[in-house]
Amino acid sequence: MTEPQRLFSIEFFPPRTPEGVLKLRAARRQLAQLSPAFFSVTFGAGGSTREGTLATVVEILGEGLAAAPHISCVSSTRENIREVLSQYRGHGIRHLVALRGDLPSGTVDAGEFRYASELVAFIRQETGDWFHIDVAAYPEYHPQARSPGDDLLNFKRKIDAGANSAITQYFFNADAYWQFVEACEEEGVSVPIVPGIMPIASYAKLARFSDACGAEIPRWLRRKLESYGDDSVSIRAFGLDVVTRLCADLLEGGAPGLHFYTLNQAALTTTLWQRLGI
Ligand SMILES: Cc1cc2nc3c(=O)[nH]c(=O)nc-3n(C[C@H](O)[C@H](O)[C@H](O)COP(=O)(O)OP(=O)(O)OC[C@H]3O[C@@H](n4cnc5c(N)ncnc54)[C@H](O)[C@@H]3O)c2cc1C
Repeated sequence: MTEPQRLFSIEFFPPRTPEGVLKLRAARRQLAQLSPAFFSVTFGAGGSTREGTLATVVEILGEGLAAAPHISCVSSTRENIREVLSQYRGHGIRHLVALRGDLPSGTVDAGEFRYASELVAFIRQETGDWFHIDVAAYPEYHPQARSPGDDLLNFKRKIDAGANSAITQYFFNADAYWQFVEACEEEGVSVPIVPGIMPIASYAKLARFSDACGAEIPRWLRRKLESYGDDSVSIRAFGLDVVTRLCADLLEGGAPGLHFYTLNQAALTTTLWQRLGI
């Protein structure tokens, strides 16, 4: 039997300082050796701008690598999304990750698109099949969802609007992912849903992110990471064991690939990749 084609991809955020730009270049050089299917670049997260996303994407393309900018509804109008799409097409970009985004605190302008499904529909209406569109999926459900059932139907809306595949929020419980995939199949959604993987570099950071995005750190994992205190070497070593096992289980179970949230650091993702024999 032939092995199913799996996609392994890597995510960066646009650096905000000249030093960050240099660091990302070095990380990218290392990660490019892994030959990921594409590098995606976030937009808006942590105050990053569309210009920052484009500049990072253009650098990636300039190195002959595939890049997928994230694009979000926050503060967007039809007009500026149209402009951005045309800019991306001009650079030969064929892949987007379309999101609602989160409003930075203190901002009230949600833009002309309320939900990612509306953005996906607009991109399809404006550009036909030019772009492969990824959307976000939440195996542990989006923190603002009224109910799991509602969130699932809202996820389906994005696929019905024309998304081709999805990348999940990170999680540490593989069962959440499998039940989500099964629930999608029951709703007739059969696009690839690629698990998002968060390497564990620091407990404090992970706890902060997880609180904000609704990803659960299971009690056993939290307690164990807490017990290492400031011992970052042990946190990283233990985190690598836990995340390697999670990835291996997901691949063994038939996940269609893995998407690594690198936070612009190369080392942990490289080790995971090597341990998994990707
Ligand atoms: C792979 C990935 C990449 C990401 N990249 C970025 C990034 O680059 N920049 C950034 O700012 N953020 C990013 N995020 C975070 C994301 O923007 C947030 O999680 C955001 O809160 C939701 O975005 P979404 O696209 O999933 O929204 P949506 O799919 O629009 O869903 C948002 C919420 O609204 C509900 N909903 C959807 N449609 C409807 C409807 N019609 N009626 C009622 N309720 C509805 C959903 O159930 C959900 O609770 C990323 C997340 C993931 C998983």
